[in-house]
Amino acid sequence: MLTGLLAADPTRFVEVAGRRLSHPDLLAAASAVADDLEEHRRVAVLALPTLETVVGIAGALLAGVEVVPVPPDSGHAELAHILADSAPEAWLAHSADLGGDAAPGEGRLQLVRVNVSARADVILDPVDDEAIAFVMYTSGTTGLPKGVLQSRRAVVAGLDALIDAWDWTADDVLAHGLPLFHVHGLILGTLGPLRVGGSLVHTGKGTPAAYAEAARAGATLFFAVPTIWSRVADSPDDAAALRSARLLVSGSAALPVPVFERLKELTGHEVAERYGMSESLITVATRADGLRQAGWVGVPVAGVEARLRDESGAEVPRDGETVGRLEVRGPTLFSGYLNRPEATAESWTDDGWFVTGDVAVIAPDGRIRIVGRESVDLIKSAGYRIGAGEVESTLLGHPAVAEVAVVGEPDADLGQRIVAYVVPRAPHTPTDADADAESALADELSRFVGEELSGHKRPREFRFVAGLPRNEMGKVQKKRLLG
Ligand code: ATP
Ligand code: MG
Repeated sequence: MLTGLLAADPTRFVEVAGRRLSHPDLLAAASAVADDLEEHRRVAVLALPTLETVVGIAGALLAGVEVVPVPPDSGHAELAHILADSAPEAWLAHSADLGGDAAPGEGRLQLVRVNVSARADVILDPVDDEAIAFVMYTSGTTGLPKGVLQSRRAVVAGLDALIDAWDWTADDVLAHGLPLFHVHGLILGTLGPLRVGGSLVHTGKGTPAAYAEAARAGATLFFAVPTIWSRVADSPDDAAALRSARLLVSGSAALPVPVFERLKELTGHEVAERYGMSESLITVATRADGLRQAGWVGVPVAGVEARLRDESGAEVPRDGETVGRLEVRGPTLFSGYLNRPEATAESWTDDGWFVTGDVAVIAPDGRIRIVGRESVDLIKSAGYRIGAGEVESTLLGHPAVAEVAVVGEPDADLGQRIVAYVVPRAPHTPTDADADAESALADELSRFVGEELSGHKRPREFRFVAGLPRNEMGKVQKKRLLG
């Protein structure tokens, strides 16, 4: 599993929030945890951005124990849901993080402490490839978070495909400040460097200054979600430090085209976008040697296939324009949802493809553009099918727009009407109760969209808000906008 880690090289390291372990020391510490976990089948990890989290997860993987990464800022309801659904036997945590023996919200679970100390000479039991590595909860953007069963086989297949796609080597130093409880920060961002045998600098937080500092210290590869990239694009001095990087990568949500363009100016790099889900792990990525194009997420990684179908099940042409439901298959896919046999069955077609729930277009050369989620981003208005993302990226091209989310609201006449929630950028921020300024800005934005796109894509209404509801990965929670 962790072959890179096992071929431990003392010059390679994992650093989290300023604390560092060499690969051999990490292996020794993880091995000690693995010994303590022998009796367990599934453990929950409070996924704080700490070195102990990395050691604990590596230890569980060495022991062949299933890991349930728990978001550290989970509210009571979310924590109760994850614990009741996944029923772990123990919490794996650094005792200092828990403030005593009681694990958060759940005192009866046993606590296995992770201490960063060394002990070597482990004998690893061979673990079945189909064994589950993670029970990872989805972001809950469209409903209650679902526990996704990810096999060791899927994790390894996905990582090896990415290592190939990005020419990732043991000489790379990856830097990022992503949460350690989703595919992006944990599987790509933590196990990736271990698999390839390279180093990791987890910056602790995802600020432009932290990314710039990692770049100055020699990091070569950078991962971030669009909210972080957008902040970097707004910090020219920090962005300039990234000129020395080899590759910048974005994923987890759509990278706005203006952010891609601005980063190109400031860093000299075209960001390589990738697309995946908790269920599909690593599926589509822009190759390091491939065409990088704003708004496009790349091609299926080695071993993965993608297709588009319409509502009747007919295959949609790969013409770079026609929107269809995206389906994928290959070795990186999940093994089912925990405790949800019906949802598991529904997510696969009869001929064995996983239905992503996203809508996309595919170009003749296989490149994919994600239009959005079928449930909220595909707006059906006046007989047209409109991708919210296209209207959003157009609006982001207007200087008065800092952030935007476009939704379809039920409408007796049109089926759905297009509504844009806009966070204005200062100095365009209409002051409270200044209805005239709001309506002038709405008129201006409507005119702007009308110039750029066909008339039926123009929002019927603009609502100005102070911020958009987002989760920790920066994903806009449109369900909350729709009420
Ligand atoms: P839930 O399944 O609980 O509603 P979720 O789908 O947000 O939550 P994740 O598995 O973390 O949970 O996220 C996967 C989704 O993120 C994809 O289905 C897609 O909609 C979106 N996504 C990921 N990468 C990209 C990208 N590069 N561009 C656009 N969307 C992306
Ligand atoms: Mg999902």
